[in-house]
Amino acid sequence: MNAIPAELFDWSQNAPSHLFYQTGGRRPFIERAEGVYIWDAQGRRFLDGSSGAMVSNIGHGNKRVLDAMRDQMNATTFGYRLHFENEPAERLASVLSKLSPQGLDRVFFASGGSEAVESCIKLARQYALAKGETKRTEVISRFPSYHGSTFGALAVTGYGPLNDPFAPMVREMPKIPAPRAYLDRDNSSDEARGLRYADMLRGKIEELGPENVLAFIMEPVGGASTGALVAPDSYYQRVRDICDDYGVLLIYDEVMTGVGRTGTFLAAEHWGQSPDIIALSKGLGAGYVPLGAMIARRDIVDPVVANGGFMHGYTYAGNPLACAAGLAVIREIYEQDLMANTARIGALLKSRLDNLTARFPFIGDVRGKGLLLAFELVANRETMTPLPKDANAFAKLVEYAYEEQLIIYSRRTHGGYEGDHFLVCPPMIATESHVDEIMEKLTKSLDRLAGELKL
Ligand code: PLP
Repeated sequence: MNAIPAELFDWSQNAPSHLFYQTGGRRPFIERAEGVYIWDAQGRRFLDGSSGAMVSNIGHGNKRVLDAMRDQMNATTFGYRLHFENEPAERLASVLSKLSPQGLDRVFFASGGSEAVESCIKLARQYALAKGETKRTEVISRFPSYHGSTFGALAVTGYGPLNDPFAPMVREMPKIPAPRAYLDRDNSSDEARGLRYADMLRGKIEELGPENVLAFIMEPVGGASTGALVAPDSYYQRVRDICDDYGVLLIYDEVMTGVGRTGTFLAAEHWGQSPDIIALSKGLGAGYVPLGAMIARRDIVDPVVANGGFMHGYTYAGNPLACAAGLAVIREIYEQDLMANTARIGALLKSRLDNLTARFPFIGDVRGKGLLLAFELVANRETMTPLPKDANAFAKLVEYAYEEQLIIYSRRTHGGYEGDHFLVCPPMIATESHVDEIMEKLTKSLDRLAGELKL
């Protein structure tokens, strides 16, 4: 063996970092993680109240998933798609197709959410081409929304600070307002509001010319950009009907909502919906591996395949190690009945968050489904006037919670209304006592924020 130059692997935790990320701040080093807890290098234990970024759905360090990964690693960790099929990918595709609505039984793997969304857009376009509908290029999405950071996913993302620097380089796709009915001050019913928001899609399709519209992409329950936004029930079927009326494909971005996070395998199930194409990621690899998937209707994929094939792919697509982990994650969700737990603990956590509104008048709204929950801070609940941006509430509360060793996730919303929202989304294995611990730490953090901002 060759001698390695001594300095090559020389490193100390105190050395200046070569890494850089979206933001400049530094965090402690992670040491280990188990269940809903994460320990840092100083031995402090944090409750992972956001499952990372709504990723670690089955909790950390699950032994059965790690064993399944080890077994696969002992066999092989890679087999290139053009040279070999692999059984974990076949098995996972089979499971996903069985857990999807009727007719959605074609699966394409990726390594993350942005890649999955890119795949959905490209499949939709190639389907239109296969049908000879060459003018269909517009992918309508909502504002605000988050669909990923690669250029295609960014084009359908509605989140100013992420879009703006690249505006001259990306063909931004048309947007309609996200159904933030909780902000509406009119006297209309929930049902009427849902239909009103959905009908904005019809308006946009008519404006663009239906022959130009390829697809509509939406998060069935909003994620980071809207803070667990749930549309009024009437919204979902109306959107489906409008897409059908114009031959527009309906893409559900279930990157955050999928794989049990809202209490059903897909959030689409809450409204009995069958989109045409679905993007999954986060909870599929559940923090064990980078993994994403697109699930599509067979009658969309078949013409594309027949028309020369899907002109799109990733080196790591269908990676056997990633797929073996994904299979073990889904097995665990079923064996431990984690979706039922999510519905039960989610309802408990939501009611405890609702109770906070009595103590903290600056909590303007609590919303979400299953364990995808959020609350929004406002200056005035009656008028839903947001806190001023420079109060920096979204960053402060996260820091105060972090000092309490509780991890939550926050964003400042964009798009007409700018507000501070906080996602509280512990892993699906959370228990009543974890809810107690979250609430205790969160209440302390909110008390501190109230004092600091004089709320
Ligand atoms: N779509 C949704 C709804 C998301 O929440 C995210 C990530 O937060 C993405 C897509 C992008 O996923 P990734 O960060 O894995 O590329």
